[in-house]
Amino acid sequence: MMMNYPLTLAQILEHARHIHGSKRVTTLLPDQTFHSYNYTALCERVKRLANAIMQLRVIQPGDRVGTYASNTYQHLELYYAVPCIGAVLHPLNVRLTAVQLARIVQEAEDKVIFVDDAFTKQFDKLREKIECKQIVHFHTSSAHPGIAYEQLLSEADSVYSWDIPDENRAMGLCYTSGTQGEPRGVLYTHRSMFLHTLAVNQADVFGLTEADVVMPLVPMFHAMAWGLPYASMFAGADMVLPGANPVCIADLIAETGATVAAGVPTIWARVYPELSKRRQDISTLRRLIVGGEAMPPTLIEAYEKNLGVEICHAWGMTEMSPTGTFSKLRGAHQNLSDAEKWRIKAKQGRPIPGVELRLATETSNGFTKLPWNGEVVGELQVRSPWTASRYYNIEPTTEHFTADGWLRTGDIATVDVDGYMQIVDRAKALIRSGGESISSVALEASLLKHPSVLEVAVIGVPDEKWGERPIAVVTLSQRIHEDISDTLGQHLAVEFPKFWIPDQFVIVDEIPKTSVGKSDKQALRKQLLMSETKEKLS
Ligand code: ADP
Repeated sequence: MMMNYPLTLAQILEHARHIHGSKRVTTLLPDQTFHSYNYTALCERVKRLANAIMQLRVIQPGDRVGTYASNTYQHLELYYAVPCIGAVLHPLNVRLTAVQLARIVQEAEDKVIFVDDAFTKQFDKLREKIECKQIVHFHTSSAHPGIAYEQLLSEADSVYSWDIPDENRAMGLCYTSGTQGEPRGVLYTHRSMFLHTLAVNQADVFGLTEADVVMPLVPMFHAMAWGLPYASMFAGADMVLPGANPVCIADLIAETGATVAAGVPTIWARVYPELSKRRQDISTLRRLIVGGEAMPPTLIEAYEKNLGVEICHAWGMTEMSPTGTFSKLRGAHQNLSDAEKWRIKAKQGRPIPGVELRLATETSNGFTKLPWNGEVVGELQVRSPWTASRYYNIEPTTEHFTADGWLRTGDIATVDVDGYMQIVDRAKALIRSGGESISSVALEASLLKHPSVLEVAVIGVPDEKWGERPIAVVTLSQRIHEDISDTLGQHLAVEFPKFWIPDQFVIVDEIPKTSVGKSDKQALRKQLLMSETKEKLS
């Protein structure tokens, strides 16, 4: 029999310290200068922080410690210190409203909250609404006196023996970003996060190596920064943390030599023009890990063809720690044409080892499995040792979990014979018109191929005759005065049946984004309804 001891995050931290002590963590500060130190220094401060938190005398094992912070070294220190003392790290989504966050803080019962300088003013609004009295500021000021992070650390001992007796202890609490209704909490354990770290560090998944310089642009409050703070340090990679306000991503890559970066498609669409002007300066960048929303095929092609940066499309959920599938080409794909390769890479990818997927349809006797042939569309369900079995503080319901132990993702997908999954839509976003389904994702991907279209979101709106009809909301790449609805309709007609063509193409200046940078279709629907009502009234 093998040795059996708990899998905990302390092992990741100690491995980084012993084996990769000289590797560096570099943070972009608000004045655009850098803070940089190595893993040895980081680990020493993590131990001080562990003692400092205990000395506050408010934290018992399992208590939640909130963070209201951007991607910085202090936040990284908290990512380790809090779980390794047996408490639960709860990164708060700073882009939610104070009212939404107050509800979350109340539910999580955060005992202490650590606040980043970048957000002190904004935090005041939340502070008025919550009961948590122990607030630690990364920096204090006369306007924001209180407990100062550096002072706590300087007064604390740098010796701490980690002791997590049970790998099934909770280590982190993250709320979904709320794209589909109110955010729900997901509680990770040491074991689940440890196993997720091993899984994503495989060569065919994130594939991080000791030689990498990893830059998570995904906020540390979005699904544990996709596990990168743990995966990078276990691999011994350098890390670059962009702070709250990176003015120029191309500069950041050029100055730090970042090799792998991660973020939602919106970010990569926004910085593409900047990066394409600086090809030489960003030559270290080898891979982008992109997820949270479908990466448009046109953008994948632009990065790979024009910038020589490999795009790895990942799909996951807060509920899955978050990685579920990863899109890399198989050996057998190497001889395909570029166009074929990009078509495959635009899919959300194959389940990473340890994750099981099934396509299902609900029948009167429960769920029936559907075939993997790339065509049959079904509800996507998952299982893995790092997938939630329930939401925090909510009794599991059949809306989210099946009786035989699978998570109902709320996504509608196909899976092909090779196991590549492709999201057709979120179940709630799928447009049902005259009894048939219309995929907003497929329409969006096609519209983005039109040179006049910069951004697009397709939504379903109620229709008396058909139940629902699609409307495309578009931002244009350049000012056009004539109505281009017909042109866009004809563009879509080449690929899709007539009933798929949106009834309206609404041109806007900007598509609203959710707190983690996804297209905010709920907000769009509200805006459209409001303007329709106004029109009717006038
Ligand atoms: P929320 O459910 O509030 O948006 P998450 O950020 O956890 O919170 O979102 C998970 C969902 O994001 C998935 O169920 C899926 O619909 C969507 N998603 C994640 N990655 C991708 C991707 N690569 N392509 C398409 N959709 C994705």
